[in-house]
Amino acid sequence: MSYIPVKRPKFSLLDRIYVVELARGLVITLRHLVLSLIGKSRSKKDFNGAGIGACMPFPEQRWDSHLPSYYRGAPTLVRGEDGRERCVSCQLCEFICPARAIRVVPGTVDPNSPTPKQEKAPAEFEIDMLRCIYCGMCQEVCPEQAIFLSKEYLITPTNRKQALRRKEQLYQLGGTKKGLINKWNQYK
Ligand code: SF4
Ligand code: SF4
Repeated sequence: MSYIPVKRPKFSLLDRIYVVELARGLVITLRHLVLSLIGKSRSKKDFNGAGIGACMPFPEQRWDSHLPSYYRGAPTLVRGEDGRERCVSCQLCEFICPARAIRVVPGTVDPNSPTPKQEKAPAEFEIDMLRCIYCGMCQEVCPEQAIFLSKEYLITPTNRKQALRRKEQLYQLGGTKKGLINKWNQYK
């Protein structure tokens, strides 16, 4: 058999009228409300909240130091410690991107460069930040550890042109990343 049948649970009358779940949800909301009003909301200290609840007065205060290590912000391109472009313009990220936010135009590497066997580097690389959904699939699929999601979340373009991040800007944002696997060098 190529599929596994899923048994649907049978709902009782109580489940179907949903009153119990509704009441439980209201109790949670009320608990948060009371804790906020007496200044004891659970996240107040963590988020440096000003007064009621866990509100943060943004943009004067930022979430930056509270972002978890797994936070997924804007994608960026990185250079290796040797300063070379990690991207070999294989276009896998362009292919996998569910939002079709990436556009890569492959280019060639200078034969006199220290890594001529790399052969390719992007002539153009663009990410449309109006399309990106920060899924991280580009980072997952990249065979060269060339594209990484940063912790940047303040993306506020005022027009479409600004939302289009080109290669130079992506490298500037990504900077240099240490400790990556170096596949391409003069000995390989
Ligand atoms: S994070 Fe997801 S949506 Fe954004 S560029 Fe990468 S693959 Fe595309
Ligand atoms: S960023 Fe990675 S997956 Fe995308 S084109 Fe460059 S090498 Fe390929």
